[in-house]
Amino acid sequence: SGNLYIIGTPIGNLGDLSPRAKSILQKVSLIACEDTRHSGQLLKKLGIKNNLISFHKHNTQSRLPKLLKCLKEGQNIGLISDAGLPGISDPGEELVKAAKEAGYSAICIPGPCAITTALVSSGLPSQKFCFEGFLPSKTKDRNKALSSIANEERTTVIYESPKKLIKLLEQLYELCGEDRPVQVARELTKKYEEHIGPTLGEVLKHFKENKPKGECTIVLGGTEKYKKKIANQSQTELLKKMEAII
Ligand code: SAM
Repeated sequence: SGNLYIIGTPIGNLGDLSPRAKSILQKVSLIACEDTRHSGQLLKKLGIKNNLISFHKHNTQSRLPKLLKCLKEGQNIGLISDAGLPGISDPGEELVKAAKEAGYSAICIPGPCAITTALVSSGLPSQKFCFEGFLPSKTKDRNKALSSIANEERTTVIYESPKKLIKLLEQLYELCGEDRPVQVARELTKKYEEHIGPTLGEVLKHFKENKPKGECTIVLGGTEKYKKKIANQSQTELLKKMEAII
């Protein structure tokens, strides 16, 4: 039987596509993607001719049988998304789940992802972190998510569209206060890449003066409570170590 290859594609800079990703994109029999026109452009830029099939949130269930049949017949299938790692805040997850449940191998060709790219460039604690993706839009669910984020001790990464960014920052400001550390990564890996921080107060002011444009990932620092705990812990450890030396 065939394999499902989950292929990471660039989040803005074509140079970030790995040689292995390119070779797999050439070799598979069929590539499932969110938007055939968008991914057709990517293949064209790479000089690759291959078959694309749309796989998005509106046709997930109707496409699955066809794709599983291809795997059964021994064809290798590639899975890509509009950008980044398929399965992160896009429909890719459903295909991987179905393929695994049917007993096929899913192999990831890793590539850029906005979560880790934004996180490591934020300067905020990255040893432990949470990812919230896009927050729910229904008021009740959204408020629940927002209050849990406000009390979160770890750094939290959130995706948001530029149109809704100010609203999200205002809600976070309301719950977390103006001094909460935050970095908004805009247009990562692209020509106008920008990182805006360091606090909710300053970032909100910035975006009220400069209309948000392009793709944005929000990296919010954890609550102060956490930092204090860390400081106390390391002090205790230090004392223990000193006692051992003496
Ligand atoms: N699968 C993708 C990944 O691996 O990052 C994410 C797909 S999700 C539909 C798109 C969201 O990711 C955007 O709304 C934005 O929050 C974030 N994103 C994607 N590319 C980005 C970039 N170049 N700079 C900043 N954020 C980006």
